[in-house]
Amino acid sequence: MSRRIIPLADVSSIPDFAGTATSPSGLLTDTLARPLRDLRISVTDRCNFRCVYCMPREVFDKDYQFLPHAALLSFEEIERLARVFVAHGVEKIRLTGGEPLLRKNIEFLIERLALLRTPEGRPLDLTLTTNGSLLARKARSLRDAGLSRVTVSLDALDDALFRRMNDADFAVADVLDGIETAQAAGLDPIKINMVVKRGTNDQEIVPMARHFKGSGAVLRFIEYMDVGASNGWNMSEVLPSAQVVERIGAHFPLDPLEAHTAAETAQRWGYRDGSGEIGVISSVTRAFCGDCTRARLSTEGKLYLCLFAVSGHDLRGLIRSGASDDEVATAIARIWQARGDRYSQLRGSASAPSREDSPRVEMSYIGG
Ligand code: SAM
Ligand code: SF4
Ligand code: SF4
Repeated sequence: MSRRIIPLADVSSIPDFAGTATSPSGLLTDTLARPLRDLRISVTDRCNFRCVYCMPREVFDKDYQFLPHAALLSFEEIERLARVFVAHGVEKIRLTGGEPLLRKNIEFLIERLALLRTPEGRPLDLTLTTNGSLLARKARSLRDAGLSRVTVSLDALDDALFRRMNDADFAVADVLDGIETAQAAGLDPIKINMVVKRGTNDQEIVPMARHFKGSGAVLRFIEYMDVGASNGWNMSEVLPSAQVVERIGAHFPLDPLEAHTAAETAQRWGYRDGSGEIGVISSVTRAFCGDCTRARLSTEGKLYLCLFAVSGHDLRGLIRSGASDDEVATAIARIWQARGDRYSQLRGSASAPSREDSPRVEMSYIGG
C-alpha cells in the first residue's frame, strides 16, 4: 500500500493578543463549557521504536526529516509556557513525544516543572508516557527530579510479537525491567498502556491482564485510533473495549468502578478478588469529548486543541517575537475560548473532517 508522507509542520499563524488583555483566572472555558486542566507536552518528535500503528517504518524511514534542534522549544520556553497554562487552570502535565526519554537532560525540565504551583498553591500532577526502553536506566533520576508517576506502553508479552509491533527489535524483558525499576523508585502507581489491534495482538489481552493483576500497576487497554495520517487505520482492526472487558471477565470476574474525575479518559474495572484494577480507553466506540479538558503543545511549540486537529497555534512564534507573559496569556485564553473540537463524537458523521481531505499531524509530533 502506498502511503502519502504528510509534512509535520502545518501552516499555523502567530496567535492574536491585540485588544483587551485576559488575565488568567483559572476559570477558562471553551465553547462547550470545558475547562482547561491538562497539558500534554511533546518534547521530541523522534523515537527509537517504529510501532506499526504510530510511526510505520515505511513512512518514518532513514530519509524522514525530523525537526532540527533549533525548531524545538527549549526547556526555558516550555517552562515559561507551562507557567502560563497553569495560571489558566492546568493541573496536570504529561510529557510525551516521540519518546520523551530520548530528549537530552529531560530531568532538568522535570525539575523546573515540578516547582510550578497551581493558583491554590498545589503542586502539579506531573507525569510522563514512555515506551519503557530507557526506563530502567532513568527511573531513579526521573523520580529524584520530581516526576510523580509514569505511564509505560507495552503491547504484548510475547517477545516475538512485541518485537514485530515495535519494529525495532526491542525485547519485552527490557520494558518489564524498566517497569520494575520505576516501581522500586516510587514512581507509583504505574500505568501500563496497551494499544489493542484486532488480529495483531488481541490474543495478548488475557496474558497481559494475568501478568499485571496484583502487581500494583494499572493496565489500560486503548482502542486503536485513526490518529495521524500514516498508520493505514481501518475500523475492522478496532476491538471494542466492551469485548476486552468481556474477555478478561471470563477469566477474572470484574466489577465497574467509579471514575476518579469527570475528565478521566479510562473507564475503570476492579478485580472482584480485590487484586487491583484495569482501565479501558474507548476512544473510538465511546467518545469522551464532552469532558475533554486537554490541550497539546507540539515539539515545536504549536498548541493543538484536539488529538485529531489539522492545525495548531504557533506559541513558539509568539514567544520568540518578544510577547510578554500577559500577551501569551491573552493569546492562549482567546484560543481556548474559541475551541469547539470534538472529533471522536463526530467520527463517521458527515460533519467529521475526512482524513484524506484534511491530513492530521502525527501523534509522535503532537504528543499522545
Ligand atoms: N513513545 C511514548 C510511548 O509510546 O509511550 C510516548 C508517545 S506515544 C505517541 C503515546 C501513546 O500513544 C502510547 O501509549 C501509544 O501506544 C499511543 N498510541 C500511538 N498511536 C496510537 C494509535 N494509533 N491508537 C491508539 N493509541 C496510540
Ligand atoms: Fe514511538 Fe511511542 Fe509512537 Fe511507539 S507509540 S512509535 S514508542 S512514539
Ligand atoms: Fe478531546 Fe479531540 Fe479526543 Fe474528543 S477527539 S476527546 S476533543 S482530543
